[in-house]
Amino acid sequence: MNTLENRVAVITGGTKGIGKGIARVFAAKGARVVISGRSVAEGEACATELSQAGGSVVFIRADVTKREDLETLADAAAKMYGGIDILCANAGVFPACKLDDMTEADWNHVFDVNLKGMYFSVKACLPWLKKSAAGRIVLTSSITGPITGFPGWSHYGATKAGMLGFMRTAAIELAKFGVTVNAVLPGNIATEGLDGLGADYMRSMASSVPLKRLGTVDEIGYAAAFLASGEASFINGHALVVDGGQILPESLQALESA
Ligand code: NAP
Repeated sequence: MNTLENRVAVITGGTKGIGKGIARVFAAKGARVVISGRSVAEGEACATELSQAGGSVVFIRADVTKREDLETLADAAAKMYGGIDILCANAGVFPACKLDDMTEADWNHVFDVNLKGMYFSVKACLPWLKKSAAGRIVLTSSITGPITGFPGWSHYGATKAGMLGFMRTAAIELAKFGVTVNAVLPGNIATEGLDGLGADYMRSMASSVPLKRLGTVDEIGYAAAFLASGEASFINGHALVVDGGQILPESLQALESA
């Protein structure tokens, strides 16, 4: 079930956090995985670690804010393996900044990485995804923006909701090529990026999840692998929440009285 045997997958932001979890799960399911990010040292270390665990994983450096980097990444991946079947547009940033302090540069930075970076990634991989027998695009959105709000993340939430707006039209446009476009909406997942928000934040987020813990990166990997698999062939334009039930309680009381 759920095999990705010999499917070629490009994962942006695949060098750590959720992207690394997606890469590990895809590689374990037999995919030939190409991960990208900006840090060469972290990217090469990640590819080595996942390859030593038995997967086929290579690193190619690419900054998603640079269109040429994505074109080079897609060309190199396709040359290496004869095509691209799956794109996971996952690279993203979440620097917290409240509206009172937010500058145009803060806003642009988050939009450039999260939204324009996703668009560049899709555009660069699209010629090969269209040639694939079953092209798949899996976007990493978030519960923050499409469903919930959190002070400090108005710009971030706007990008993550924007990804779903993009998805719904792209899913219609690309269906005629057999390419599906879906999204995972993670809740709070223990990653290097989230670590940066501090132990107090991590503890309080874990307590707001009915399952009373943060998610793991592999748990997002399993969801992405399903959406990328043959078994998900009739799922198109879907937003899959993976959050341990975090969005469910109507109030603090609903959570605490269970
Ligand atoms: P992370 O641990 O900080 O990892 C981010 C990844 O993206 C790294 O591989 C990083 O590599 C790459 N990246 C960042 N900026 C980039 C750029 N300009 N070009 C190319 N790659 C770039 O973050 P994470 O927590 O795993 O988050 C990954 C995705 O999940 C994001 O889209 C985020 O919005 C989403 N998400 C996360 C959570 C959560 O709880 N962690 C929840 C919901 C959604 P380099 O730094 O080397 O470039």
